[in-house]
Amino acid sequence: MSAVMISRKVRKWEKLPGKNTFCCDGRVMMARQKGVFYLTLFLIIGTCALFFGFECPYLAVHLSAAIPVFAAVLFLFVMAMLLRTSFSDPGVLPRALPEEATFIEMEIEAANGNVPSGQRPPPRIRNIEINNQIVKLKYCYTCKIFRPPRASHCSICDNCVDRFDHHCPWVGNCVGKRNYRYFYLFTLSLSLLTIYIFTFDIVHVVMRSVEDGFLSALKETPGTVLEVLVCFFTLWSVVGLTGFHTYLISLNQTTNEDIKGSWSGKNRVQNPYSHKNIFKNCCEVLCGPAYPSVLDRRGLMHEDSPVSASSAAPSSSSSSLSFSNNSKPAPPTTKTTAPLIPNEHTPDDAKASIGVSAEQSCSPEDLPPSFIPPLASPETDAEASVAKDNSH
Ligand SMILES: [Zn+2]
Ligand SMILES: [Zn+2]
Repeated sequence: MSAVMISRKVRKWEKLPGKNTFCCDGRVMMARQKGVFYLTLFLIIGTCALFFGFECPYLAVHLSAAIPVFAAVLFLFVMAMLLRTSFSDPGVLPRALPEEATFIEMEIEAANGNVPSGQRPPPRIRNIEINNQIVKLKYCYTCKIFRPPRASHCSICDNCVDRFDHHCPWVGNCVGKRNYRYFYLFTLSLSLLTIYIFTFDIVHVVMRSVEDGFLSALKETPGTVLEVLVCFFTLWSVVGLTGFHTYLISLNQTTNEDIKGSWSGKNRVQNPYSHKNIFKNCCEVLCGPAYPSVLDRRGLMHEDSPVSASSAAPSSSSSSLSFSNNSKPAPPTTKTTAPLIPNEHTPDDAKASIGVSAEQSCSPEDLPPSFIPPLASPETDAEASVAKDNSH
C-alpha cells in the first residue's frame, strides 16, 4: 500500500525546537521546568494572604485604611511583573533553516581551507568592529548560527537568547533582551513589598503587645510569626538581588558578562555598550524601545503527514513542508523531516546576504539575518561583546 502526504496547518510554536513549553495556543511561553516558579507564586500569594487576613483588619482600624490599599496595589504590581517576565519570550533567536545551516557550514569550510587530519579546525568565530574594538561573534553548534552580540545559548531552554542575562528558575524563564526590565521591576517591587509587610508585621505585634502583652498578641495573630520568618529570609536575597541588578544596569552590563568577567580589568577591554553615564545607562536598559518577538509563535505553517493511499485525497500530494504565507515556497529539494525553523526570511534571502568570509571583519550592518534579529534597532547594532582573548 503506497503512502501519500496530507498537508495540514499547524501553529509554528508546535514545531519550534528547544525545550520551552507553550500554552494558550502559543501566547504563553515558559521554560520546561516550572517547579520553582510555582514555589515563588506560593510564597508571594501565601504571605500576602496572611498579611491581608491577620494584619490588615487590625491596622486599617487602628492606624490607617491606606495600609491595605497600598499593599494591594503593590501586590498586584508584583504579580503583573512576575507574570510578564515568566510568560513572555525573553528574546529567543530562531535557529537556522537546514539550507542556511548547510550554506554557513560550506562557507566556514571554504574559509578554513583543508585542515589536515588530526589537527583541530580553527574556532568558528567572526570578527566585527564595534566602537573601535574588535568583537567576536561565536558560532552556536546547536542553533547553527553565529550568535549576535551579547547573545548566549541557555542550556536549560536549549535556545540562543538575545542579550542573555541568566536563566532564572524563580520566574521559570530565561531573562533576556525582551523581559529584563520586567524582571528588574519584579525584584524591585518585591523588595518593597517584603519590606512593607515585614515592617507592618512588627508594628502590628508591637501595638497588640502594648494592649495585651507579647505572648497573647502572638496567640491572636499566629500568621504573623510565619510572615515575619518568610519576609526575614526573603528580604536578604531579594533586596541583595535588586541591588546587584541596579549595579549592573548602571553599568549597562548583564549578569552573564559579569560572571564571565567580560569587562574586567585583566582583559583590558572596556564595556562598549556603557555610555559612561549612570543615568543614560539606566534609561537605555529600562526605558529603551520594546523589542518584538522574532519567533512568530502563532504564525501558521503547513505540515505534511504520510497517510495510506486508500484514505488520502488525490489532490493532497505535496511532498515538502512550507510556510503558510507562501511568499517563497520552499524549493522542491527541501524534502526533510528536520524541525521547521520559524525564521522571518527565506533560505534564498539568507544565501544572498551571507556573503562574508568567516574570517573577514565586517560591520554589524553587514551581518546576515541569521546573526541579527530582523527588527533590531540601531542601538542593537552597537551591542556587541568586545572580543576577549579566549585562547586560554
Ligand atoms: Zn544556540
Ligand atoms: Zn533559559
